[in-house]
Amino acid sequence: MTDPPSARPSDRLARPLRSFRISVTDRCNLRCSYCMPEEHYTWLPRSDILTFDETARIASCFVRLGVDKLRITGGEPLLRQDLPELIVLLARIHGVRDIALTTNGVLLPRFGAALRDAGVRRVTVSLDTLRADRFVALTGRDQLAATLAGIDRAVELWPGAVKLNAVVMRDRNDDELVDLLRFARARGVELRFIEYMDVGGATAWSGATVVSRREILARLAERFGAPVPCAERDWAPADRFRLPDGTVFGVISSTTEPFCRTCDRARLTADGMWYTCLYAKSGVDLRSAVRCGATDAELDALVARRWRERTDRGAEERHALREARGPLAARDELADDPHLEMHKRGG
Ligand code: SAM
Ligand code: SF4
Ligand code: SF4
Repeated sequence: MTDPPSARPSDRLARPLRSFRISVTDRCNLRCSYCMPEEHYTWLPRSDILTFDETARIASCFVRLGVDKLRITGGEPLLRQDLPELIVLLARIHGVRDIALTTNGVLLPRFGAALRDAGVRRVTVSLDTLRADRFVALTGRDQLAATLAGIDRAVELWPGAVKLNAVVMRDRNDDELVDLLRFARARGVELRFIEYMDVGGATAWSGATVVSRREILARLAERFGAPVPCAERDWAPADRFRLPDGTVFGVISSTTEPFCRTCDRARLTADGMWYTCLYAKSGVDLRSAVRCGATDAELDALVARRWRERTDRGAEERHALREARGPLAARDELADDPHLEMHKRGG
């Protein structure tokens, strides 16, 4: 039986398909130590990268099945040539309520306005440190000033719709929690602290380097007074808190307090592989389906069927390993299957 086109499928854990993250490139202009710490990477072949029409066609399928939020990610999405043209195609899809972008910010001064005009509604910029020397140590590039200029541009272009993401790592940047929060507050943007995750690509991960949500909250409480959880609970990954002075911030605790039970996210790589979990070892090759001439109905049926079979609880399974937990994949495994990398499947 094929699915009626507008039916939003739920998976085996009753999680609806609601958000779709589209990675538009696996290339990046930074080398964050928690994401791309290696010297060499295997890049996706150019001929495998989806055209904008192919990406929009696949996105339309997900939207017919109930997705209303799209997020553009990478790699560094602003490295994809003519990205605003894709945004225009996506914004035209009937049923898309929101198009967001996750970026390291470096190229926002150059491309931000065109992306906003094309239809990007919200932007999240990654910022892990405010110290120039540390930025070089964490990202391998001397680009703090460019990142900060990108954040300023984002605030101008998307007032009230900018967030900052900071991955917290012990002894690398965990002494900057207060400074990062003050920086965000001064610009009226919401900061989310992200626990360091043992995803593919995080080859230097160890439990000792993780600063847990509990510890992050305790440290902020020492400085600002106890954070109080915000009342709302939705399908977003961040738990939000309010400090006594009114500052709101988020914590994404994928490592120590995973939230797979509410995960409504699907991820597409730049070469058209669809993953139902950040930790999934295998995905569905939608590029081949599209290039072999699948009809819309066939695409819809393929995606709906796979989502209904979904049982992924990757972060919860990793959490259950406790002391046995280490990097998800060894270097040679990543070289054999580059799709395991976080910079391939997007964050
Ligand atoms: N290049 C863009 C950026 O950095 O914002 C978009 C892609 S990046 C893969 C998306 C998000 O994944 C970033 O916020 C990054 O901090 C996060 N990320 C990557 N590796 C991570 C890890 N090991 N643990 C936690 N977050 C990670
Ligand atoms: Fe690049 Fe983003 Fe990964 Fe950093 S986190 S290396 S900016 S893809
Ligand atoms: Fe969703 Fe997988 Fe992340 Fe859990 S680990 S929240 S199932 S993507």
